[in-house]
Amino acid sequence: MGTIDVQPAGLVACPGDNVTFTLIGVEDTGGMKRANCQTVPIPPEPVSFVWTLTLPPNYPDPLPPLTGQGSVVRVIAKVPGAYSCTLTANLHREDCRPWPSQETYNSPIVRVPDLVSVEWRTHTGNAGLSGCPNNGGQRIFPDWISPTDNPNPADLRRKVDLVARISPAKAGCTVYFTVWDVDDPFDQNNSTMPNVSLIDSNTSGPDNRPTPEPPAPLTGTADAFGEAIASSPFVVSMQPGNNYRAGAAESQTLINTVTQTQADANTPPQYVKFTDMLTVWRKLHVEVDSMSAPDFTNTQVGIIPSAPTYNAANGRATIPLAALEPDFNETDQHKVGRIDILTIGSFVTVATTKAPSPTVEIINAPANIAMANGLWYNLWDDDAGSVPPFVMVGFDAPPVTLPKVPDTGLMPQVFKDAYVEIAPLDMASYQATTVFQRNARNNDEAVTKGNENRSLTSASDFWVVHITSAFQGYVAKDGDPDTEQAAAGLQYGITGVPFWTPWRRAGSLVFLETIRDDKRGNASAMAVMERYTVTHEAGHQFKLEHSDGYAPPDGPAGDYIMSDITDQTGMAPNVSFGAICLKKIREIEYPPQP
Ligand SMILES: [Zn+2]
Repeated sequence: MGTIDVQPAGLVACPGDNVTFTLIGVEDTGGMKRANCQTVPIPPEPVSFVWTLTLPPNYPDPLPPLTGQGSVVRVIAKVPGAYSCTLTANLHREDCRPWPSQETYNSPIVRVPDLVSVEWRTHTGNAGLSGCPNNGGQRIFPDWISPTDNPNPADLRRKVDLVARISPAKAGCTVYFTVWDVDDPFDQNNSTMPNVSLIDSNTSGPDNRPTPEPPAPLTGTADAFGEAIASSPFVVSMQPGNNYRAGAAESQTLINTVTQTQADANTPPQYVKFTDMLTVWRKLHVEVDSMSAPDFTNTQVGIIPSAPTYNAANGRATIPLAALEPDFNETDQHKVGRIDILTIGSFVTVATTKAPSPTVEIINAPANIAMANGLWYNLWDDDAGSVPPFVMVGFDAPPVTLPKVPDTGLMPQVFKDAYVEIAPLDMASYQATTVFQRNARNNDEAVTKGNENRSLTSASDFWVVHITSAFQGYVAKDGDPDTEQAAAGLQYGITGVPFWTPWRRAGSLVFLETIRDDKRGNASAMAVMERYTVTHEAGHQFKLEHSDGYAPPDGPAGDYIMSDITDQTGMAPNVSFGAICLKKIREIEYPPQP
């Protein structure tokens, strides 16, 4: 009896290895000696062997030639599976039975490992991967974690490892990886969004931004546990929404058979495994600052030029005023305002007349108000209650509170559609010392105020927008008097455009006093409008324009948050970014841009 040995020793081989089957212990030439039998003639023919090789199902190539006639067969195991050899030998027998007789020998099974999985894994030193809430699969943040992150090497945050596993384990087997820029699933996931084809219009990649990325080949070598890590990490691009899928196989030939279509559709061919989709997200840091509390510049001082008139029937009086600055000089500018008259008292104003003979009407006036000619007065903007401890009683407008941290609470859900996550507020950079200004009267003043307390620098590796709580904007749009809302609309916030280099948007101002005035002090309505405005203004820092928020042909009913066409609430119907805005955010290098 003989056996078939396998060389090299061991019953697991890597694809491409030579595997040798050797017959041991069987005579292959004639001649027999018997102890107890009759003499048998020496056979005239040589002994013959027939080797049969068993290959795994779907082995891709024709049966290789069987070599080693008589004793040895070599095969190259190309694909995973079970390999074995059978030998049928015509033999002389020593046991006196007739010849020729046949004996069959089966080799042990040689196993070429299966590639059982391939996955993305956090690269050593980098922040962890997490689940992608938009696309499924996983996501990576390639940006700096903090303003002082400064990773080494510089692209550390962009790196991700690829890990494949083969079973049974066989150290030294090579695994071949390829990474594809696969189809952007945004259009399939948001098929009813108007103009979604601007973002993607088909089911095929490569389509990453700024330029589609070609397939990236990598290799790795399995360790004793069967784990093969690509020897170079994969480096993702920086634009949010860019996405990848990787595949692995145990030969270059096999991985080369994969088509872009298969990678897009997540349908790997036999012997190839795919990863989940990996999607790039960006972190957006919001630097928040605030204007300080309203101060004396929110008032005008003067001397009453002639005797007030007193109406005893309704307790009201009309107070003549000295000349007023233009932004104080509007009909009913001081409706629901306040005037302090030296030695007489503080009064709520309910009406104003304009120059050339400006007056205010007050309520609850004392009879001696008629003697107030020549007294000093201090007239407040209609924001009387805005300076503690004065809180107006009997009116529907409690004071706006400054300083105040801008409310960024709406940003996460709106920016999520652009694959942008809002980082937790870094209160270490919060400054409540932006000098009070009752109106940012034009673009240049808005730029100055918007940049006043900026301390973080935005860059391609670290995205920052800057938001400052402020008081009022353009005089004609600050809601004083209330008729301005119908005439020119209200300005809830502004993101100024500087006309110097570097020509980038300023930080944004959110006008809390105008919001308070518009919402008549309703705290919940004020909070909704503030959050909406913060998000809208942050959008301007991404180069988004009002026209980007329009949604023709749906008309205003289809407008998005970047629109300046609002309904009675002061907001657009769709509190989200439309396709044009999402595309711009996904393509920008970093905010702010002009
Ligand atoms: Zn705007």
